[in-house]
Amino acid sequence: YTSDAYPNVKRDPNFGELTADDVAFFKELLGSQSAVVDGVTTDATDDIEPFNSDWMRKYRGHTRLVLKPQSTEEVSKVLKYCNERKLAVVPQGGNTGLVGGSVPVFDEIVINTSRMNQIRSFDEASGVLVADAGVILEVADQYLAERNHLFPLDLGAKGSCHIGGNVATNAGGLRLLRYGSLHGTVLGLEAVLPDGTIVESLSTLRKNNTGYDLKQLFIGAEGTIGLITKVAIICPPRPKAVNVAYFGLESFEQVQRAYREAKGQLSEILSAFELMDGRSQRLVHESTGNKYPLEGEYPFYCLVETSGSNSEHDMEKLESFLEHVMGEGIVADGVLAQDETQFQAIWRWREGITEALSHLGGTYKYDVSIPLPELYQLVEDCKQRLTEKGFVGDDDSFPVRAVVGYGHMGDSNLHLNVSVRQYNKEVEKAIEPWVYEWIQKRQGSISAEHGLGIAKREFIGYSQNDTMVKLMKQLKALYDPNGIMNPYKYI
Ligand code: FAD
Repeated sequence: YTSDAYPNVKRDPNFGELTADDVAFFKELLGSQSAVVDGVTTDATDDIEPFNSDWMRKYRGHTRLVLKPQSTEEVSKVLKYCNERKLAVVPQGGNTGLVGGSVPVFDEIVINTSRMNQIRSFDEASGVLVADAGVILEVADQYLAERNHLFPLDLGAKGSCHIGGNVATNAGGLRLLRYGSLHGTVLGLEAVLPDGTIVESLSTLRKNNTGYDLKQLFIGAEGTIGLITKVAIICPPRPKAVNVAYFGLESFEQVQRAYREAKGQLSEILSAFELMDGRSQRLVHESTGNKYPLEGEYPFYCLVETSGSNSEHDMEKLESFLEHVMGEGIVADGVLAQDETQFQAIWRWREGITEALSHLGGTYKYDVSIPLPELYQLVEDCKQRLTEKGFVGDDDSFPVRAVVGYGHMGDSNLHLNVSVRQYNKEVEKAIEPWVYEWIQKRQGSISAEHGLGIAKREFIGYSQNDTMVKLMKQLKALYDPNGIMNPYKYI
């Protein structure tokens, strides 16, 4: 056994091989056919392939069994059995992760959370929501909208990703600037360890200084120490007024000035400040056919969103901010959304980039944190390097189609994306590890929000020192001594 995407990774011979008896056990435990997608026994019917390949179609595993437990108790029994039989598993939510973490590498059993999808409680006074891990992010947010609240996380994959998957990846998203990270908003969680132990830490308290805050370990652990089954999260009131503006700017220096001004002038109502380069917007234009929001084309664009409680007051603030930045020559041109349709249309120029890129072929994705002044320099340097190496050119014979940069400016988080006609080892070698060395020199992070998965696991040393990696390995060994939870990934 070797994996297609990672020829150097070998299947761990200590793991058990799935048998028809194992499948019979799971069918007996989980009941109906839809809870067990089985590629082992002769009566297998459902298609197993969607669970084997990731959102980018970059990583493909070879599972022959997908389990969809409906309760924490079922997860506990599944994991206990797998642990005793040393059958490796992969927790899977909406399978929208971008680092190959949610699909098997070899024949690991997929434990999918889609049938654990109940909202358990919501307290209007405190804003605390308790829900199962398999609730789709958008469904949770709609439930909250009906109660005048907001899920404190929003991202382009909201229609498919699960809140358990969001917590497992510590997803950041579009409004971290305003609502903070899941490390702060998740108040409690319930998880199951590989030996079947249920970790009941579903606190709904804001404050709880009674010992180590162990739930934090599961946030961002990418399914390597346990499977999250429930989440308690504090949700803010839904803002009554949300406004959005879209700017064109001539340089990254001006982008930084605009950001400083936005923080100063919009202060408490600022809820997103996103950066898009000219190339990324051209790609959205080409893939959607939509007319640009502004007349001219610019090397940089920003999307600024405000969320507050008074529409008139917020609009006034935003208009005077826009007047100021245009008067000072910081922003070359700008537009304010006048209604809900325009609001959605402007957001699509930002949220549509990932999809526009996916139509071009393969994408090498680097989701990184860099100190703000040098944030965009990485894109310029990468473009120059790939051009010098002869990978970028005007016609179809060149493997690279586009080098683009965009991201969550307010969090110093850049998405460097290199779009290729087909995944190409030569191009990959030109980017990696060069890109990680570039980031390390600036004390950045090689993975700001997408995590390590299998894509970045070899590169953790560029952002964490030996002591930190050793401590992480000790924790992994403590929680998962047989190493069955999402193996070959993370550390
Ligand atoms: P999956 O992809 O199924 O799993 C992700 C990882 O978590 C895997 O390692 C898996 O094993 C583990 N896991 C899943 N569920 C559990 C569980 N219950 N218990 C333990 N481990 C589990 N990310 C951002 O941070 N910010 C963004 O702005 C952003 N935008 C995106 C936009 C698009 C269009 C796409 C496709 C992805 C984007 N992402 C973004 C990536 C992001 O990580 C995921 O979208 C999301 O957080 C993953 O949720 P999921 O349910 O799909 O998890």
